[in-house]
Amino acid sequence: MPCLFCAIVSGEIPCQKVYEDASTFAFLDIGPVSEGHTLIVPKTHADNLASGSAETAQQLMATVYRIAPAILKAVGADGYNLGMNHGEAAGQDVFHTHLHIMPRKVGVPRVFTKTHPSPELLAATAAAIREALG
Ligand code: AMP
Ligand code: ZN
Repeated sequence: MPCLFCAIVSGEIPCQKVYEDASTFAFLDIGPVSEGHTLIVPKTHADNLASGSAETAQQLMATVYRIAPAILKAVGADGYNLGMNHGEAAGQDVFHTHLHIMPRKVGVPRVFTKTHPSPELLAATAAAIREALG
């Protein structure tokens, strides 16, 4: 089975990209639990964090550090949940390591229910994040 997130990193499958560097790639989740819900993946395939390298784990967290402030600024959020579903038992659906950044606003319930924003709204959110990243 070809890997969905490898296909996104290579550009074979479109996404709303917000950031990339030499080792990581970040794009909007297609079913966001909150506005600005972003996935960060390593460019090199590993099914999960444990089957990749320690260096990959560090690179993913460095990208969280780099982009989370811009995501919050772009969507007007006050904080974020950072998540990883590691393994089938934990609800992992896509077996290419990924971190979820889920922006949160004061006073808004921290739900984990997927929403289905229009492609136009997702594109506008991604553009705002790229703009905030400078
Ligand atoms: P999980 O493996 O459970 O941590 O989550 C996989 C995430 O990938 C889900 O939140 C999906 O909404 C998201 N997702 C699935 N397909 C796509 C896609 N083509 N583009 C962006 N996000 C996706
Ligand atoms: Zn992959």
